Amino acid sequence: MALIVQKYGGSSLADADKIKNVAKRIASTKEKGNDVVAVVSAMGNTTDNLLRLAQQIHSEPDEREVDVLLSTGEIISATLVAMALRSLWYDAVSLSGAQAGIFTDKIHRRARISKIEPERILKELKSGKIVIVAGFQGMTLEMDTTTLGRGGSDTTAVALAIALHAGACHIYTDVEGVFTADPRLVPDAVKINEIGYEEMLELASYGSKVMHNRAVELGEIYSMPILVASSFTENPGTLIHGGIPMEIRNKVRGIAQDLNVAKITILGLPDKPGVAAQIFQALADADISVDTIVQNASVNNLADLTFTVTRTDLSKALRTIDPLAKKLKARECKSDTNLGKVSIVGSGMQNTPGYAAKMFTTLSAENINIQLITTAEIRITCIIEEGMMNKAVQALHKAFELDKTAA
Ligand code: ASP
Ligand code: MG
Repeated sequence: MALIVQKYGGSSLADADKIKNVAKRIASTKEKGNDVVAVVSAMGNTTDNLLRLAQQIHSEPDEREVDVLLSTGEIISATLVAMALRSLWYDAVSLSGAQAGIFTDKIHRRARISKIEPERILKELKSGKIVIVAGFQGMTLEMDTTTLGRGGSDTTAVALAIALHAGACHIYTDVEGVFTADPRLVPDAVKINEIGYEEMLELASYGSKVMHNRAVELGEIYSMPILVASSFTENPGTLIHGGIPMEIRNKVRGIAQDLNVAKITILGLPDKPGVAAQIFQALADADISVDTIVQNASVNNLADLTFTVTRTDLSKALRTIDPLAKKLKARECKSDTNLGKVSIVGSGMQNTPGYAAKMFTTLSAENINIQLITTAEIRITCIIEEGMMNKAVQALHKAFELDKTAA
């Protein structure tokens, strides 16, 4: 008998009928002779609503309390799915992240899983039960509730699949799988049947919302294949795995866009050793991750330093940087939030010339100004004005002939 870990996203659980539909799907997996552990997200927009509520109570609510609050969303789903299964005469039990043995570090709101002690889950499975686990949450060694970052239920599912040595990990969502671009922006976008971990990781890290990037990363480290498919249809979905045939590698596989971008520029910084180190150390100490970094050539021993952070982190970043910039005698510190990142991703790009040129030519033909550029081995990212994003994604999708991707 195989053990299958499934995960159902919030839109698949948005109301009572959808919860009953999910229960039927879980039951049919059990019916095929499998053991099932199902990880669930909070219903619909519950997490956003809880966050808004917290904000109404306190403008900067304590992160420990926010984690306990947010974790309730997934617990509600887990209990209701277990009840729905019982109404179908299946024995099911809901477990919180802590009850499921998921331990994390102490970083509230984006905790990382440190270990999983799966004994309780195994005991329930052994007694014939279907186990429903509240996603997105864990517990510190001090027994404080933590959450894994937005979209973190995917990570719960992949981590559990690894810890339980599951035969398969299925992520069920409201789309049919991973597409060459966001189908809401690009009607010609094509569903990708299979994709490598590295490519999926870049797409997920640079804006594709279909999977949590940390879940993909875990899958890669432990070689756990992950199927992403729709919870509303029986269509095959996208398989993320490591065995992609070589021929498929040599092209752009997908385009991602991300509007959660803010740019900070520090003008007139003294150009001497240790200045950049101080700035980025301060940001790291404040737990702010920085993406693109550009420093221009210095004039009169003064340089300008530009970097991007998420919009969510902008005010915290400015609070960190402002006093430091003054101390370092920089001239000015500016920020801009009307920006977005558009990225092309494909394993084949690393050894093949011409992709960057084609990307820039395509954007310029649309009169889109590129503000910053970053490249990684299998990704090229341009930072552009937010209002130009849709046009950019559509033009790039066409230029790289992604509409001709074999379905
Ligand atoms: N409910 C959480 C969120 O909205 C976690 C998840 O859905 O994976 O981010
Ligand atoms: Mg998600």
